[in-house]
Amino acid sequence: MIDIDQKCRRTNLSLPSCVERIKWWILFRWKIVKITFLSLFYNTHLYPNDKLSGDYVFDTLIQPAFWFVDNFTKILGPVFVIVVTFLTFCAVFVAYWVGLPWYLENKSNYLTYSIVIFGHYLLLNVVFHYWKALTTSPGAPPSSPLEVVVSVCKKCISPKPPRTHHCSVCNTCVLKMDHHCPWLNNCVGFYNHRHFFLYMVFMVVGCFYLMVCGAEIAYQEFIGNWGLENNTTMDIANQPRYYTEEGGFYVFSKRSLIFFETFMTSGCFFSLGGLTLWHAKLIHAGQTSIEAHINRSETQRLAELGKIYKNPYNFTPLYNWYLFLGLVSGRGWLSVFLPSSHPPVGDGLTWDTIYSCRVEWTYGYSPKQS
Ligand SMILES: [Zn+2]
Ligand SMILES: [Zn+2]
Repeated sequence: MIDIDQKCRRTNLSLPSCVERIKWWILFRWKIVKITFLSLFYNTHLYPNDKLSGDYVFDTLIQPAFWFVDNFTKILGPVFVIVVTFLTFCAVFVAYWVGLPWYLENKSNYLTYSIVIFGHYLLLNVVFHYWKALTTSPGAPPSSPLEVVVSVCKKCISPKPPRTHHCSVCNTCVLKMDHHCPWLNNCVGFYNHRHFFLYMVFMVVGCFYLMVCGAEIAYQEFIGNWGLENNTTMDIANQPRYYTEEGGFYVFSKRSLIFFETFMTSGCFFSLGGLTLWHAKLIHAGQTSIEAHINRSETQRLAELGKIYKNPYNFTPLYNWYLFLGLVSGRGWLSVFLPSSHPPVGDGLTWDTIYSCRVEWTYGYSPKQS
């Protein structure tokens, strides 16, 4: 107050007028806070046709949650990437540490080396596609004028080409956006969609491979020896344990490593397997995760008007896969089974549709024009 009093004297203002100003300033700030708070929940479409819209209430109430999730995802993105890399490394480490010696001891060398070679083929693909999905930008609309524009992004205030959507985590428009993947700390869109999908496929196959190859080891460890006379494997005291040279520092028992491997590979196989199937279903129908929602509501809307909606990017399942995997202009299946960084078909700005398609199919057929 002394400060304010001195300032008032310096500026030739009386104390009551200063108090008035401070009061006005506090009230003004309070109003801003109030408006900001209310704006989080306010929506002019709450009462379309003088009736409270449940959808809008939900949509409006969920906005702060979206804001939180967006920011949370952005901050935790690098942590998720480190977790994925670390867990993959651990799964491979256990395969080497426990699986390889067991195979060398119990199976033929020929079988052991074959399993190791195929395992490395899968690992190479997993690492390659994860790295590409992580480091490849999904693509954003350029600042130069666009040939085809379908709408304007309200957040970027810039034109949007077909199939482009705004990502609130990356805070930019993304070409053929599928979704923002926290495990990649990147958006999945036009340029990295194939790498994202193939990463999941090779990861699921890799987990299944480890489950199959490790099944006998896990069986022996946890079940197999119950009925046997020489029950040494189940004898915890005889389990190999790992100590440092100084002695006394217990790291992990073989059993805990086998349990970890079983838990990780089966958990990843079922959860990522479900996600892979879901994405395969979308690709099969020529749509992205976002378009699946749009296509569903458009189908419903047009059905109410007695019309039939047709997804213009659905070239029938086989051709949807060819397009997605880039099997065009002479490129064959080797580019799917081996690591390949070929770019997707087109530029992500203008799109071939079932009504106008200029794609040169590798496998020589033309999609049904309907
Ligand atoms: Zn945008
Ligand atoms: Zn994003």
